[in-house]
Amino acid sequence: MTQKYKTNPLKSGHPMAKALADLIKHQVDAMITMQSVRTFENFTAIKDSLHNLDQRLAELTPRSAEETQSLQRGKRLIIRKDCRVPGCWKPAKSRGLCGTHYQAARRKGKL
Ligand SMILES: [Zn+2]
Repeated sequence: MTQKYKTNPLKSGHPMAKALADLIKHQVDAMITMQSVRTFENFTAIKDSLHNLDQRLAELTPRSAEETQSLQRGKRLIIRKDCRVPGCWKPAKSRGLCGTHYQAARRKGKL
């Protein structure tokens, strides 16, 4: 059976009890402060992620009535892709290659 205190031992008036109570209060305050800072940092990180997601979603949201209609008809949105050759940012025309790299691949017999 656990011993039960009739009064809160930390409020017993004993000088050591008061020092201990102050120490605990100080520790708890410090823990709450640290936790608050961490929670705030987490919130900031989540807010940043949501902001990034918002921007990405805005890029995917149809901007014109035509785009909306083509989406509603189940057409695939044509997303411009760059040439798959690393470092080449020309738009891909065929097989993921730009005109230049497509011709080069054909000449080398790789297509
Ligand atoms: Zn290219």
